[in-house]
Amino acid sequence: MVNPLDFAEKFAVLPKGIANRLNILKAVRIPGLVVLLLAITLLNFQVSAQQNSNGANKKFVVCIDPGHGGTQPGTFGKFTKEKDITLKLGLKLGEIIEKNMPDVKVIYTRKTDVTIGLKERAKVANDNHADLFVSIHANSLPESTPDQKRQSIFGTETYVLGLHKSQESLEVAMRENSVILLEENYEEKYQGFDPKSPESYILFSLTQSANHESSIYFADLVEKQFGEKAGRKSRGVKQAGFQVLWETAMPAVLVEVGYLSNTKEERELNTEQIQEYIASAIFRAIRDYKNKVKSLN
Ligand SMILES: [Zn+2]
Repeated sequence: MVNPLDFAEKFAVLPKGIANRLNILKAVRIPGLVVLLLAITLLNFQVSAQQNSNGANKKFVVCIDPGHGGTQPGTFGKFTKEKDITLKLGLKLGEIIEKNMPDVKVIYTRKTDVTIGLKERAKVANDNHADLFVSIHANSLPESTPDQKRQSIFGTETYVLGLHKSQESLEVAMRENSVILLEENYEEKYQGFDPKSPESYILFSLTQSANHESSIYFADLVEKQFGEKAGRKSRGVKQAGFQVLWETAMPAVLVEVGYLSNTKEERELNTEQIQEYIASAIFRAIRDYKNKVKSLN
């Protein structure tokens, strides 16, 4: 299990200052994008600062984001669509929070099988001044992967925004981000971001904001709960350039609850009991995170 501090050190090579960020951007050579991205980053910091100054009496708000939906099914198992699993888990998680933490306000990006863009999902969280954003997804290996490998890989991964450290993390982000290609005017809407171009992903290293450490801290709580309390195989905390995490202005994670390409795990994810375990694990991580934040105030 990754200790949040060790994890932070591991990624300390990531650019910290604006000057470094500019150097990285120069290397990427995407004209015009530098100023725009700096503006977006500064805006993000500003939004965070405004939120923090909203007063101590504000209710703690959790935004639950069940991935995909409507015309965007996400990935597939043999008999499961990702969008159905994410919705079931999202609703279950919300129910558990509302039952056990009446002082927490739960908002959802979707509560039914509807299509919603990545930008719109983040907007729901930002407009409601959420304190925490939890995007729920299910993983899978490409169909071209030999079945032996597909059946040998399973478990949970919790992502925070950042520059990927492995090809696998990049591929997960690319797959999840590719949904924007289905959105209307995506080039304009996402300011030229190409989810299929690896070069685009280096830009996500820009967001080394105050939320980064909090996101890692929360992600670590989630993975610990999965591995130590919920009987799941934790594959650890990872980072990659997820568009939906880039757009949100608060600590935010993307949870991959398991691999639909693994037949055994697909079956498990469809059972009421495992869904309950997973939702409860995320709930306990949220509860612990909230208590930690409270103890610091
Ligand atoms: Zn997904």
